[in-house]
Amino acid sequence: MSEYPRVILAPQRDVSVRRRHPWLFSGAIKRVEGAPQGGGPQPGALVAVHSFEGTFLAWGHYSAASQIRARLFAWDERDAPDTADFWRARLERAIAARQPLLADGTTTACRLVNAESDGIPGLVVDRYGDVVVVQYLSAGADARRELFNELLVELLHPVTLYERSDVDVREKERLEPREGLLYGEEPPDVVEIVENGLRFGVDVRHGHKTGFYLDQRDNRALLRTAVAQRSAPTVLNVFAYTGGFAVYALAGGVSAVTNVDTSAEALRVGRENLARNGFAEANVEDTEGDAFTVLRELNSQKRTFDVVILDPPKFAFTKRDVKSAARGYKDINMQALRLLNPGGLLFTFSCSGAISADLFQKIVFGAALDVKRDVQIVGRMTQSSDHPVALTFPEGEYLKGLACRVMQ
Ligand code: SAH
Repeated sequence: MSEYPRVILAPQRDVSVRRRHPWLFSGAIKRVEGAPQGGGPQPGALVAVHSFEGTFLAWGHYSAASQIRARLFAWDERDAPDTADFWRARLERAIAARQPLLADGTTTACRLVNAESDGIPGLVVDRYGDVVVVQYLSAGADARRELFNELLVELLHPVTLYERSDVDVREKERLEPREGLLYGEEPPDVVEIVENGLRFGVDVRHGHKTGFYLDQRDNRALLRTAVAQRSAPTVLNVFAYTGGFAVYALAGGVSAVTNVDTSAEALRVGRENLARNGFAEANVEDTEGDAFTVLRELNSQKRTFDVVILDPPKFAFTKRDVKSAARGYKDINMQALRLLNPGGLLFTFSCSGAISADLFQKIVFGAALDVKRDVQIVGRMTQSSDHPVALTFPEGEYLKGLACRVMQ
């Protein structure tokens, strides 16, 4: 018997644990034994999960506050989890998997640790050159922050280790938002990165996520290839952020780009990113405004484009939001399809985990039907390879995209 608290499952609730799903929901638990006097395990405590019959199943980190009551990460009782050596090995394995991506220096920024899918629940680590940014997203990861910080410094030798745990999901774990320097030098206001040979400035303090949408890297590269196969197309880049897709489109040889975003600051950084890549004089128009309105205005002006990119923020945060989110996705896709020239391309995305790839395709189908356009799928996209999805954890797949060709 282990010295750790034991989480005993309710009868017949062991299937997902045996399938190595990392999330153990509160409803599957019968009782908790062996916790210190006067209550349940401490937030983030190591617990041993046992079946109702008493068989050891997994090691996990406990979170009393969350519906995800424990996050599981090891399935062999003899594993000595939670030692520095155990987590060092997990980190090394995740970091080594990204080495091919960073090897030739044409890309200097990527996700190094993708939480559950890398066997380290609640820990996200992104590299921006010498600056490493971490997010502690669960009670278990947060309780081990000192250890993880030390291990990351030991393994990565960063100039800066910076925390961006200023995310809503921490509330569910009853953790306060946290942000700031963890080790080394304060990060510069702009961290310069290279991605597929293109240059971008990243503000790791205030930028979205940990500063940049690393998850779209492979899809930006696909867009560059797609536009390079056409003769100087025009591009509408909706939800442009700091112009990631715009820079790739220009590198692919487009004649004009129109960026749309509500954030003036993001568009301003986008301008700097154009200059960083020698496109300061390119034909680029920035429209600060709400995409829902701007797309309608462009339609009423009878503007047309050869390529439209729709990369909106998350519309559905939970299953309850799916209906209204679906209406939002349908609306922007209808507007975008109307703006496309015959033969034009739509790159359309959803990063809502609650919207499945299947549902997203149905939404785009509904949009095409309503605007009476004849549309083909010519490609399917997902998050970049440094954001892997463990086969045991399909929930890890959140980004889906369709490349569509409008026939007429
Ligand atoms: N394509 C970008 C990432 C887009 S993130 C890249 O590759 O880097 C989503 C962006 O949508 C954010 O920049 C946010 O400011 C913007 N945004 C959010 N709501 C919006 C709205 N209603 N209209 C226009 N832009 C919006």
